[in-house]
Amino acid sequence: MRPELSIVVPVYNEEDVLPLLAQRLRPVADGLGATYEVVTVDDGSTDSSPVVLQRLLREWPELRVVRLRANAGHQAAISAGLATARGAYVVTLDADLQDPPEVIPEMLARARQGVDVVYGVRSDRSTDSPFKRASAWAFYRVIRLLSGTGAQVDAGDYRLMSRATVDAVNALPEHHRVLRFVVPALGFPSDSVTYRRDERAAGRSKYPLAAMIRLSLDSVTGFSTAPLRFATWLGLLGGAAAFGLLAYALIASALGQALPGWTSTVVAVAGVGAVQLLCLGILGEYVGRMYAHLQARPTYFVAYDSLTGPVTAADEPLPAESRQA
Ligand code: UDP
Ligand code: MG
Repeated sequence: MRPELSIVVPVYNEEDVLPLLAQRLRPVADGLGATYEVVTVDDGSTDSSPVVLQRLLREWPELRVVRLRANAGHQAAISAGLATARGAYVVTLDADLQDPPEVIPEMLARARQGVDVVYGVRSDRSTDSPFKRASAWAFYRVIRLLSGTGAQVDAGDYRLMSRATVDAVNALPEHHRVLRFVVPALGFPSDSVTYRRDERAAGRSKYPLAAMIRLSLDSVTGFSTAPLRFATWLGLLGGAAAFGLLAYALIASALGQALPGWTSTVVAVAGVGAVQLLCLGILGEYVGRMYAHLQARPTYFVAYDSLTGPVTAADEPLPAESRQA
């Protein structure tokens, strides 16, 4: 039977957080007065998270564990959860309790008043590091500007979606989608609730700088070709500057003044080279996206689902390394 609410939780090496999550999420979910399931998506954890999940599974009937074959990344893990969630509404929630589960009842109430999406908007990020705050501040504004989507500033991946919205997301063929911008772009009626973003309950962030940069690039290239036009503008500007320089050089030599020139030549050559590489890189980002799209390879593979069991006979709920332990 379909539960009314699915709560999708991506999990990557969260052994310390999971018991705390269960402790806080369960009373909230049990108190909803609605049928629910909690779909944890184990994104190829290499710590004891699978063991902890199996233990929780035994004492929490509404819990589901979906295990991916390998680490697919935060967005892909959420996508995997959305694809298997059965609820009439689906909430996506990080495992680390930075997004307080206590907000879920309010999200559900708002949705029942007749909207398809309820965004969780962070009112206060004082618990994030200054660098994270500054980069997030720039991230949301730049991408909003470039993409022209109505994405809420400071809305992350804590949100509630109706079945219609989830089906629409699942039907998208797009690879490397950044859900926080894709969902608003679908244009379903929405509302939002604000909440205070807490500190991570335990463990460390799974978002190194490289992953943050990848997310930013995916966000921009997923929505806008403005960077490609930026390359054109740079080229035009460079061309104009070159013409100016040429005119200057011609006039100077006509007046018989030798040009003092080594440094300026080298700087110009290096500058032009850098701009060319930058533009090539920008182009490469889009070509890479098209490549991934043409390959049409799934971004994740499910190995096990506690609802339906292992996908192949060799797939066990626990990965080999933790079975030995
Ligand atoms: N996560 C995941 N796969 C990854 C990285 C992270 O499923 O490759 C999960 C992680 O377990 C957490 C959520 O995504 O539930 C957000 O990650 P994290 O809290 O580390 O990010 P931050 O809040 O620092 O941006
Ligand atoms: Mg976090």
